[in-house]
Amino acid sequence: MDLTGEQADILNMVKDLSTNEIAPRAAHYDRTEEFPAENIKKMAKLGLMGILIPREYDGAGLDSVTYAMIIEEISKACASTGAIASVHNSLAPCMIEKWGTDEQKEKYIPPMARGEVIGSFAATEPNAGTDLGSMKATAVLDGDDYIINGAKTFITAGPRTKTSIVFALTDPEKGFRGISAFIAESSYKGFEVGSILEKMGIRASETSELIFTDMPVPKGNLLGKEGEGFKIALSSIDGGRIGISAQAVGIAQASLEQSISYAKERVQFGKPIARLQGIQWMVAEMATKIEASRLLTVNAAHLKDKGVRFGKEAAMAKLFSSETAVFCTNKAIQIHGGYGYMRDRVVERLYRDAKITEIYEGTSEAQKLVIASNILR
Ligand SMILES: Cc1cc2nc3c(=O)[nH]c(=O)nc-3n(C[C@H](O)[C@H](O)[C@H](O)COP(=O)(O)OP(=O)(O)OC[C@H]3O[C@@H](n4cnc5c(N)ncnc54)[C@H](O)[C@@H]3O)c2cc1C
Repeated sequence: MDLTGEQADILNMVKDLSTNEIAPRAAHYDRTEEFPAENIKKMAKLGLMGILIPREYDGAGLDSVTYAMIIEEISKACASTGAIASVHNSLAPCMIEKWGTDEQKEKYIPPMARGEVIGSFAATEPNAGTDLGSMKATAVLDGDDYIINGAKTFITAGPRTKTSIVFALTDPEKGFRGISAFIAESSYKGFEVGSILEKMGIRASETSELIFTDMPVPKGNLLGKEGEGFKIALSSIDGGRIGISAQAVGIAQASLEQSISYAKERVQFGKPIARLQGIQWMVAEMATKIEASRLLTVNAAHLKDKGVRFGKEAAMAKLFSSETAVFCTNKAIQIHGGYGYMRDRVVERLYRDAKITEIYEGTSEAQKLVIASNILR
């Protein structure tokens, strides 16, 4: 792909950060499940926590194609950091930018764009995942505040977040049409971080429950209008999926690069295994799927940048790239043989990290529903 001069410069800067700072710490963060605060600080310094946010709100003001390339590079080095960066960059600040009032934008976007505040997206509940319309959290208007009660789960960076977009029912009778979105601050009374959940992969991204008990949220923090929450969530996730697709490409690319160097150095039957056709076919399939995944991701990002509909293409990209990540990391372990199954190998971590890309911001089945509904409308 041809890059503009600016894109090439940014990508070189990100590659430098990823290779020299982020990748060397990835195994540590995976093992300890410690939040990669140092990585986030370094990214913030380079403007990588407000990639899509206009400069007037202290963001980097970059386009979605550049965003996808950045998330791929970061995720190639550390998928946990990639998850935090993707969710933070593409959801809370962008949602406020698109749906917020001028006051909301001025108050909440700049600290997130500067990376001083981590944003989160709190939609999922224990019994409402793909079926967000069955959520139970409620928001009842009482004077100048909405009083929110409910429990969210699986929230990325939940324990770190200071600004969370919280979804709750303002009109439970209306089902998904009764969902509204709110900007909640973690300092509000009744905002509580529940259990931090232990995970198979992206172990350092700190996924937790968030519990709201009689939490007053000022009326002025309603995002959009009452009843627009579902629409806001779905349209924001379309953009988020470009990030997850890029994350999947990064994980897959890392597994390919590990496989190539291992195949060249591992000798069996008197020659490097890279010279065995069985290994070559795996590498060829991995490389081809990665190329296709990257193109699908860039295509969705390009459509988003053009301001045309991109929901179907973002779902296609996420579906294909996440399956590619799972396929490639599996093959990478196969190429490494028994050594690939050992905890000290990068491919072992990549295999665990890859799986989440088929689940969050909509499962693969949910992507197929989006694609089919666009095609069969
Ligand atoms: C590590 C991690 C981080 C996350 N981060 C966030 C976050 O920051 N914010 C947030 O709000 N959520 C977050 N999530 C939640 C995530 O988006 C949901 O897990 C996901 O949407 C699926 O919901 P579920 O887990 O309840 O699965 P379910 O919806 O219960 O699905 C179970 C199975 O049924 C299938 N299924 C469900 N409905 C259909 C259908 N109509 N047709 C066909 N198959 C169907 C699914 O594809 C899946 O295979 C995160 C999850 C994880 C694991």
